[in-house]
Amino acid sequence: MSATPRQEALRAITARAPLAPPDGDANPSLTELFGSKVFNDAVQRRRLTKSVYQTLRRTIDAGEALDPEIADAVADAMKDWAVEHGATHYTHWFQPMTGLTAEKHDSFLSPVVEGGALHSFTGSQLTQGEPDASSFPSGGVRATFEARGYTAWDPTSPAFIRETNFGATLCVPTAFCSWTGEALDTKTPLLRSNEALSKQACRLLKLIDEDVDHCVSTVGPEQEYFLVDRELYHLRPDLLSCGRTVVGRRPPKGQELEDHYFSASPQRMLNFQMDLERELWALGVPVCTRHGEVAPHQYESAPIFENASVATDHNMLMMEVMQEVATRHGFKCLFHEKPFDGVNGSGKHNNWSIADDEGHNLFSPGSSPHDNLRFILFLTATIRAIDKHADLLRASIAHSGNDHRLGANEAPPAIISIFLGSELEGIVEALIEGGEPRAAERGAIKLGVTTLPPIPADTSDRNRTSPFAFTGNKWEFRAVGSSQSISLPNTVINTIVAESLDYLATEIESGTGNRENVIQDVVRRTLSAHQRVIFSGDNYSAEWEAEAEKRGLLNLKNTPDALARLTTDENLALFETYGVLSRRETESRANVLNEAFVHRLGVEALSMMQIASTQVLPAAVACQTRLATAIQATRQASSGIDLAEQEGLLAEVSGLIGRLRAAVQTLSSAHEHAEGDHLPAAAAILFRDEVKPAMAEVREACDELEGFVDDELWPLPKYHELLMVH
Ligand code: ADP
Ligand code: MG
Repeated sequence: MSATPRQEALRAITARAPLAPPDGDANPSLTELFGSKVFNDAVQRRRLTKSVYQTLRRTIDAGEALDPEIADAVADAMKDWAVEHGATHYTHWFQPMTGLTAEKHDSFLSPVVEGGALHSFTGSQLTQGEPDASSFPSGGVRATFEARGYTAWDPTSPAFIRETNFGATLCVPTAFCSWTGEALDTKTPLLRSNEALSKQACRLLKLIDEDVDHCVSTVGPEQEYFLVDRELYHLRPDLLSCGRTVVGRRPPKGQELEDHYFSASPQRMLNFQMDLERELWALGVPVCTRHGEVAPHQYESAPIFENASVATDHNMLMMEVMQEVATRHGFKCLFHEKPFDGVNGSGKHNNWSIADDEGHNLFSPGSSPHDNLRFILFLTATIRAIDKHADLLRASIAHSGNDHRLGANEAPPAIISIFLGSELEGIVEALIEGGEPRAAERGAIKLGVTTLPPIPADTSDRNRTSPFAFTGNKWEFRAVGSSQSISLPNTVINTIVAESLDYLATEIESGTGNRENVIQDVVRRTLSAHQRVIFSGDNYSAEWEAEAEKRGLLNLKNTPDALARLTTDENLALFETYGVLSRRETESRANVLNEAFVHRLGVEALSMMQIASTQVLPAAVACQTRLATAIQATRQASSGIDLAEQEGLLAEVSGLIGRLRAAVQTLSSAHEHAEGDHLPAAAAILFRDEVKPAMAEVREACDELEGFVDDELWPLPKYHELLMVH
């Protein structure tokens, strides 16, 4: 018998030699490489006149409006630099509400009358583009007859060059809006939320005599992913269309031996990671950490933090570059939150903090009483924000992939709570009670007077189960999905913390008497009102679910429930008040996110039915035929042999075939019903309540059959192959 495609793929993988680096490129210097494809500050300083450079810097650093006078000069310098790097085209690079990036390339070519051509790139080409917006989701913001949208240069995120073997393109990060000025992208609200945060943070800082002009949210996203060999990937239609396996039996060996976390990567994986890091360094993405994750073939890569908008752009870019580099090494990256049932899924830990205009981290517990006053104020604001707006934070990570993860004992539950660590929790209690902090031998904490006991930075490592953990000098939001853009989660964190800073500032301003006493009292009242959100125990436990309910904390278990909270009156008003999203913009986002949930599940259901009917059933029938033929042949050869066991097997496989057929039919009807004419939120509920349970039935029957059918007849690469072979 000739080899099956599955066997051929396995042979090809084991015969593959590791990819060698291009000639002469074995050991590039990290410092020379870093940012070599970026129109960054150093390049700007070199290529722009002093006055143009200074004007541009004011826009980048202080958020001043861009002076249109300098646009031509910047564009020209950018073009010259890009052409020297081999670029023939430029593109506005933006992030529509698909959660992905988008680009449309135009060449620098400008033919001249005498024949021949020049390179040209004008200020207006740099600052504004007009892509046809009709094919991007708008969630109802843009009427279909009004297809126009425009992109606007975001000078705060540096332009960069993307190369293939055949040429290069200058990519200019931009925002994407409709002509009515409404945001059609994920960047615009993030930038607006940062403005809101900055304004309120500066206001609160003034109240404690700190004169700061501008603050910025800082973010370091830790990206988890799986690497799967492309040969096997292409034999899995579900991976191809859904990014996850919709059928597949658990492997004999999974992650139970705990032998993958932080283990040495196999050469082939390490080569991929090193190649990836070179590409990313050249693009100015400061990736610095790599390690093996919990599941086999699962890894993490994390950059050094940057301002939230640049960190978001870089995370999007990183995911794209990862796929390209993976191709070179014969891999496919899986960013899905749950590619394999029964195996740990992937997330994106979103580390968040605020820095002032000199780069001081506002969440660093300092060594002086003043530093600690500031620290406690920002801590109090965040605790209040997370408790008061837990629903929005939960909604910001609502996603079909994340529904498999949250609360599944591998990721934080859907209940939003805060981990502080016992030292900090003791301080919070002392502030509320006016008593002594548990962990320290000190008197009552008087804000602005007393120094806090030192808070060990390793506090964070004691609890990995909390969705929102204070980790020494930043907050780690651990419930973000690995495939998601970090834009909305950070937009929400910025907005809700801005609202809390506003609240604290207003309370302090309206208090009478000694400022320190007023602050002490506001902090005490606020912490006491929101203390319920603090929990340092095991967030994966059933006891916590019961306890959280007693405390009145929300437990929004799935995407449709969570998304419903985006558009409550309170939340619509919140985004509007802080100038982050108009009501229509928020409603449009809820629609787009519900539609995405529906479409993703729709694709999964169709993919599953296709696999069940055209791959699993035929394999099962072939197995049934083998058995029937064997029984018949044996009976003909000798009448004295007991065939009860064989007949039992035949009955079993026939029964499973019947069960699978019935399950596919149920799924097909459920899918048809859910696909009907419904509003996005209603359709999402049908997919959750009818389609998902029907999919679970189909999967069960398929997975039973996988455990039954002859291995050589099984067309789909199995879990142990996807997760172990490299
Ligand atoms: P782990 O959570 O795996 O222990 P690390 O301590 O290495 O991770 O840090 C995780 C991420 O937190 C990194 O991307 C790092 O740059 C980021 N980070 C550190 N300080 C800040 C900060 N002030 N603001 C935002 N992110 C930060
Ligand atoms: Mg982490």
